[in-house]
Amino acid sequence: MTVTFARRMDGLKASEIREILKLTQQKDMISFAGGLPAPESFPVEAMQKVAQKVLEQQGSQALQYSTTEGYEPLREKIAERMNRKFATSVQANNVLITCGSQQALDFSGKLFLNEGDIVLCESPTYLAAISALKAYQPRFIAIPTDAQGMVLAELEKTLASQKNVKLIYVIPDFQNPTGNSWPLERRRGFMEIINRYHIPVIEDNPYGELRFENKIIPALKSMDTNGLVIFTSTFSKTFCPGLRIGWIAAEEKFIEKYVLIKQGADLCTSIRGQMEIATYMDDYDFEENVEKLIQLYRVRRDVMIEMLEKKLPQNVTFTHPQGGLFLWVQLPEDIDASELLQDCLKKKVAFIPGESFFPNGGGKNTFRLNYSNMAELNIREGIKRLVQAILEYQTD
Ligand code: PMP
Repeated sequence: MTVTFARRMDGLKASEIREILKLTQQKDMISFAGGLPAPESFPVEAMQKVAQKVLEQQGSQALQYSTTEGYEPLREKIAERMNRKFATSVQANNVLITCGSQQALDFSGKLFLNEGDIVLCESPTYLAAISALKAYQPRFIAIPTDAQGMVLAELEKTLASQKNVKLIYVIPDFQNPTGNSWPLERRRGFMEIINRYHIPVIEDNPYGELRFENKIIPALKSMDTNGLVIFTSTFSKTFCPGLRIGWIAAEEKFIEKYVLIKQGADLCTSIRGQMEIATYMDDYDFEENVEKLIQLYRVRRDVMIEMLEKKLPQNVTFTHPQGGLFLWVQLPEDIDASELLQDCLKKKVAFIPGESFFPNGGGKNTFRLNYSNMAELNIREGIKRLVQAILEYQTD
């Protein structure tokens, strides 16, 4: 007898990032491929003390099942921080703790998508959002973007011509993969369109707090007069991803549905990790930690941009992000980034080719660079190797 899998598996393939990440584990590899935070930023000693305290003082609660919605003190702290940082006005009741924000993406597919429904996203967009939503067999329409985010005239045109749009997925702050952010006017214009068409929006915001210059721009959620925006974020980039704690902040009518889904998926997120983050916030200065990350990543971004500006040929362009973890490189049309990657791997430097960030293909001449995970010296050396590979590719 042959085993048959569900139809939803047909479109799923191994993430290119995971395959490349395996290669980048080699010791002498300089990797700009993953989206990993700087491990030296993790407060390991403080978290040892916090873990000890949680177990000593609330040990049986920390090891017990907990509510699906999440640990109340943490939900309150998240709501307070969001309102302070992103000008939203959410309360603990609007917050559901998830196992990383990746889980929020999967649940959103489960909540909104039937086979053949349309999802609108930016072009390019976060590749693991494509993977998460793809399992629900939608059709993606990728709306063109410019340096200021989704192009609203294109969004409007698509909404006017497509009946079956169920969900819009966007990353307005230091987007993965481009590093671009939407200015206030673009956000206002977007919300004006959304309110007319009344379609739920996932605002995925893991990077918004990591802004290196100027002030944080209010979230789409802060302009959400019709309760359509489902905001999702995570402690993965502002603290540490190993705890796997993220959240959804939305109208209670949505939260109730997500809770039903979470009950069927995993009952609850690890309460121990939630208590540890909440305790860390009580006993230490969480904001100081975020500030340290900002300082560290700003220097790394500056070094990467300085090297790219100095070394890259004129016909290669790249984004200048004001925060987050990534920048995006556009090669001349005749260079295939996947082929270039093979040359680069021989030189022990890695990146992620851009094609996987386009749900319907394209972007063969683009790639993503991460600057958060490598020390300054490695960034300098890695960019030299990368540029060398580009120059050799062009003369071949
Ligand atoms: N959304 C975006 C845009 C991301 O870049 C990531 C992580 N790379 C996630 C969601 C998921 O993060 P996590 O599950 O660790 O919270």
